[in-house]
Amino acid sequence: MRPLFALFAFAAGGLIHAADSVSLLKPARVFDGETLHLGWAVLVSGDKIAAVGPLADLKVPADAKVVALSGQTLLPGLIDAHSHVLLHPYNETPWNDQVAHESEALRVARATNHLRRTLLAGFTTIRDLGTEGAGYADVGLKQAVEQGIIPGPRMLVVTKAIVATGSYGPKGYAAKWHVSQGAEEADGDNLIRVVRDQIGHGADWVKVYADYRWGPSNQAAPTFSLEELKLIVETARSSGRPVAAHSTTPEGMRRAVLAGVETIEHGSNGMPETFKLMKEHGVALIPTLAATGARPGAKEAFQAALAAGVTIGNGSDVGVFAHGENALELDAMVRFGLPPLDALRAATSVNARILHLEDKIGRIAPGLLADLIAVEGDPAQDISALHRVAFVMKGGVVYKPTP
Ligand SMILES: [Zn+2]
Repeated sequence: MRPLFALFAFAAGGLIHAADSVSLLKPARVFDGETLHLGWAVLVSGDKIAAVGPLADLKVPADAKVVALSGQTLLPGLIDAHSHVLLHPYNETPWNDQVAHESEALRVARATNHLRRTLLAGFTTIRDLGTEGAGYADVGLKQAVEQGIIPGPRMLVVTKAIVATGSYGPKGYAAKWHVSQGAEEADGDNLIRVVRDQIGHGADWVKVYADYRWGPSNQAAPTFSLEELKLIVETARSSGRPVAAHSTTPEGMRRAVLAGVETIEHGSNGMPETFKLMKEHGVALIPTLAATGARPGAKEAFQAALAAGVTIGNGSDVGVFAHGENALELDAMVRFGLPPLDALRAATSVNARILHLEDKIGRIAPGLLADLIAVEGDPAQDISALHRVAFVMKGGVVYKPTP
């Protein structure tokens, strides 16, 4: 009955949630996006956080609804900065077949389930990094969530993403077949038109593939020139949109950083000097270890990024694996040496800054949106507690009530 109840709560929240209703959340401890506090409580008024601090210090209205979260840790809603809600796990259906054989309607129907699962797993915001052949469907899904048609996390979207001609997939066809690609091909001056067209269709960020497994050898190699990447960044930036770059090779990463992208996705073969350059330019790394952590060199690259002091965000590449399992990324980062508190920061306050949403989400502070979750146990001691989500609130609306 849990999902039905959540849907009911969602519908009720959308229709009759009073802007002045007040709730007092009483957990065992609060992680506020920066540090852990024992004996704190949080007051929510309407869709915002009204107050946070030691319970005795809070001015609690007599009619406040008390939500007991005993033994639990309250956190800001988690943020996944690299998702693909229009993909499902490759061990169910290979990527090529999803892109080539699944209709957009089928993929959108699946995505509505993915969005609900993501939200109920405590991820209240995602940056979805490419529809992989499903056109602008991410923009429609984002609108469906915003309009209360389906439950889901807040979404930032990129639409189709941009690849250099010949570099992406599905590939391996005889030359006589013209195969529609999983991202939009563009080169040279045409990049200006394609960036603007994607923005016109609803892109909040622009995603570019700075390298990819290219040609019959299937070896990752840089794609766009530095000048082309600069053109993409300049065109996106002039409209206020940042750029995210898929990149795994040192040269692809170097060009992307010098061109002015704000995040590097994967970075799994970056060298110490690559990460030094990222640090100098203030470029964040989104490691996606949950999807790529088993690859040779991924652990060493992640540890080199840590040693260089690169800002590390939380982004999992979920879609490659099952939606709702987004917290696997935090498990992997901790396994590779990131202290649990830093992993929690990466998925909350750090990600909010990376996504330019720090004045709305990512911390538990007065005036911010009431995106709040509770997990069983203490994730600062045991990061796997994030898989035991007991309570989910987004914008003051409860989607997963306490049992
Ligand atoms: Zn991805």
